[in-house]
Amino acid sequence: MKIVLRPVGKIDDDVMAELRQRLAEIFGCPIEVVPLITELTQAYDTWRGQYLAGRIIDWLKRGHRAKGEKVLGIVDVDLYAPHLNFVFGQADTASEIAVLSLCRLRQEFYGLPEDRGLFLDRATKEAVHELGHLLHLGHCPDAKCVMHFSNSLDDTDWKQAAFCSRCQPKMIN
Ligand SMILES: [Zn+2]
Ligand SMILES: [Zn+2]
Repeated sequence: MKIVLRPVGKIDDDVMAELRQRLAEIFGCPIEVVPLITELTQAYDTWRGQYLAGRIIDWLKRGHRAKGEKVLGIVDVDLYAPHLNFVFGQADTASEIAVLSLCRLRQEFYGLPEDRGLFLDRATKEAVHELGHLLHLGHCPDAKCVMHFSNSLDDTDWKQAAFCSRCQPKMIN
């Protein structure tokens, strides 16, 4: 297995480096960072003021990929999906491509003072969660498990960046 992180639009290099290192420790596989150069505005909904997650997944599908590669797009804009106010991320298991938004993981988004450590922890958890979907895991009832569904950031902050003992053996590459 190999994970390809694809920053779409402007993402801080330090954040990408940190995420890459943390994911390498958790998944123990090679991780590559390959930016996707595109105009994010093509996924923008002016009425909602948000970007359509599925469209970004579609763009990522166009890239050439080797077998066993899991692709995680990373954006710093607010994402939505039809019938949802917003999404932290979205995964398409069939194509093994997911996308994650960093936007709502920052304390500043809620008018609170910056907390870089907390932000990176949240980004790691949500990245592991989406990659877990690409490894064919569903949502887990264990609130401490990284595969637990986050309705809000409280859920994200409560869970760990690790898979529980039930999810861990169920992962299928
Ligand atoms: Zn999920
Ligand atoms: Zn679990």
